[in-house]
Amino acid sequence: MDDAERKMQFLFALRSKGVTDARVLGAMERIDRGRFVRGIFAERAYEDMPLPIACGQTISQPSVVGLMTQALDVQPRDKVLEIGTGSGYQAAILSLLARRVYTVDRHPRLVREARRIFEEMDLFNVTAFAADGSHGLEDQAPFDRILVTAAAEDPPGPLLAGLRIGGIMVVPVGQSDRVQSLIKVTRSERGFDYEELRSVRFVPLLEGLDKD
Ligand code: SAH
Repeated sequence: MDDAERKMQFLFALRSKGVTDARVLGAMERIDRGRFVRGIFAERAYEDMPLPIACGQTISQPSVVGLMTQALDVQPRDKVLEIGTGSGYQAAILSLLARRVYTVDRHPRLVREARRIFEEMDLFNVTAFAADGSHGLEDQAPFDRILVTAAAEDPPGPLLAGLRIGGIMVVPVGQSDRVQSLIKVTRSERGFDYEELRSVRFVPLLEGLDKD
């Protein structure tokens, strides 16, 4: 299969799973997932499946990335926070849709590797930090959009507090690592509205920075 065919299949799989937003599909067409997957799994980068990355973490399934990005409804002027940089793939897609993206991970090594890819791809509006994202990013708050790509028991309070009125947060929540629900939180003048989108499976949101 040549590159063009692989790309067609990749986009077809996204559409068939419900990713229909033209801007999201356009961004996912431009960001080559192959750059974010290394070693023996690199050849599977265009398949619709999660894959292992360094530090025992995973790069999410492309259709889940697409559906989460679509639910986040990112606008061109938005300042976006992502918790869980991982490979950097999701942040790279957000960078094409938003004005500014901040992404944090508790593994400094993942942050270093993602930063290098952002530089190589000339994605200058993404900033990656090593931090425990469950505390939010107070210096840069409030955010128009917040995307959490690790599962929490509940949407973390500091993140809710850092969401602008009118803002949207998408977060997987669940007590176990088997059953989690993807939740869309919308903040209005009156408070927070919660909408359950679908079931998902993410690595857990853990406390504190890791040494690696
Ligand atoms: N969005 C990533 C996939 C994320 S995997 C991608 O596109 O590849 C989930 C990531 O969340 C892991 O890298 C893990 O280290 C990170 N994580 C877990 N708990 C965290 C926390 N409290 N703060 C920041 N990152 C966290």
